[in-house]
Amino acid sequence: MTPTGVQPASVHVRDGRIARVAGWDDVPESPAVVDAGDSLVMPGVVDTHVHVNEPGRTEWEGFYSATRAAAAGGITTILDMPLNSIPATTTVAALEAKRRAAQDKTVVNVEFIGGVIPGNSGDLEGLRDAGVLAFKCFLSPSGVEEFPAVTESDLREAFPILERLGLPLMVHAEDPACLLLGPAGGSLRYADWLASRPVEAERSAIELLVRLMERWPARVHIVHLSSASSLDVVRGAKARGLPITVETCPHYLTFAAEEISDGATEYKCAPPIRSVAEREALWSALIAGEIDLVASDHSPCPPILKEPDSDFFGAWGGIASLQISLPAIWTGARARGIQPERIAEWMSVAPARLAGIANRKGAIEQGYDADITIWNPEASFILDPENLEHKHQVTPYARRELYGSVVATYVGGRRVFGIDA
Ligand SMILES: [Zn+2]
Repeated sequence: MTPTGVQPASVHVRDGRIARVAGWDDVPESPAVVDAGDSLVMPGVVDTHVHVNEPGRTEWEGFYSATRAAAAGGITTILDMPLNSIPATTTVAALEAKRRAAQDKTVVNVEFIGGVIPGNSGDLEGLRDAGVLAFKCFLSPSGVEEFPAVTESDLREAFPILERLGLPLMVHAEDPACLLLGPAGGSLRYADWLASRPVEAERSAIELLVRLMERWPARVHIVHLSSASSLDVVRGAKARGLPITVETCPHYLTFAAEEISDGATEYKCAPPIRSVAEREALWSALIAGEIDLVASDHSPCPPILKEPDSDFFGAWGGIASLQISLPAIWTGARARGIQPERIAEWMSVAPARLAGIANRKGAIEQGYDADITIWNPEASFILDPENLEHKHQVTPYARRELYGSVVATYVGGRRVFGIDA
């Protein structure tokens, strides 16, 4: 899959980079030739939204397991969220602690996101200088105490700095004023969880961000959009030239509230998975280019914290999907008559652009890093959680039939998953 489309080709790799892309039969006589057969040779997936959780909550997930799961899922670069590790990545010292924790454990590229929390606006420039590719903040409670949500006044302090630094601010966009308390004592009913996080919360938060961007046009990226009903606000901002982008996630595009059983907390995330109609509206917006990209928001936890068959309000909110995101998105796209080129756009090119690495990632083109995924779009499988490299096997994708099986993954020209075709 080259920038000009899918075609028979040979990809020549030297010193970790793509040396040239040539005709299919333009290959040397060498045992180092890998024949991908009828599989698709695509730029590796760049996942800009992954919670690795190490150090501090390594029993939830860690660099060793997360990067192996990424490789098995055709992902060659991940951006690690600044929470739920301890420390959270809100200072340069914390970033260094993360880097130390990751050392010698990773098989794919790992980049970091810095946190914006109340009172740390003085740390942002240092974090940028130390190499974070983006920032992240929450407008509603994050679920962990080390990462408090910001208020409008915190954002008024951070936005001028972010505008100057030029890095995107990824925002969990739910206005806490629109969130409702659940029933006293919690609830097993999915409908109660859904009702507690209405779409108005997303809309109100996005409106606030656009207002701030009008004053300080910092780059803003809305993470995990769960409903297309706020996209008119985004469209308007884009039309006025504001640098806003939007992602959604495999779970919002795969599942629907109508199908979630009571007590099935493996489906719990915030904002919540909504109706079939909302899911289809998200697909339409993605296909129309109004949603820029797809990221996994892989946010696992030990099974005990999901409290199986119990309370939606007490269970940890987060869905484990890192290894599954490419087949999950392709399965939905294929069913809607979408071509694989769009998958590369949503999962490789646009995320690389968001992360500021599109000059070396996201394309099979001369000079780019040899981060390559070979996958077979027509091969289907039933997801067996035993085959997941995630630290824990709990996932709502268990036993689903998915299309798109990853054959091999290469990072910098080195195979990190699969077989040499
Ligand atoms: Zn997240």
